[in-house]
Amino acid sequence: MDCIFCKISKNEIPSKTIYEDDLVKVFLDINPISSGHMLIIPKKHYSDFLELDEKINNHIHKISKDISNLIIKKLNPDGLRLVTNYGINQDVKHYHLHIIPSYKAKDNISNVDDIFNKLIK
Ligand code: AMP
Ligand code: ZN
Repeated sequence: MDCIFCKISKNEIPSKTIYEDDLVKVFLDINPISSGHMLIIPKKHYSDFLELDEKINNHIHKISKDISNLIIKKLNPDGLRLVTNYGINQDVKHYHLHIIPSYKAKDNISNVDDIFNKLIK
């Protein structure tokens, strides 16, 4: 299957990876809508959130909290949104959870490399 997120999970195409384990990978969105916008994906292919089983769903939920805490600590956002798209709203048909920070001040969407360095230091 020609799936871009399967390729990212197997490191066949590069990503700015913030965290990974046996089950999931977390990386910066290539076209961020705010500074620190990232995606959590299961390494195994599930097309959308309706396909997730309980085990992977629980794991993604736990990782989403850990990553949210990391973003809060390192980027000091004023808020966060966790978003999953489905159907016509979903462009990439490999399940992913967006974590999108919000800032009260104008966000000039920093360079992805600068954000990456802030998050991994
Ligand atoms: P959606 O499927 O509409 O929920 O959104 C797909 C998201 O994946 C968009 O925010 C894209 O910017 C992002 N995206 C697509 N290709 C890549 C990639 N190679 N690396 C990182 N993010 C990507
Ligand atoms: Zn896939």
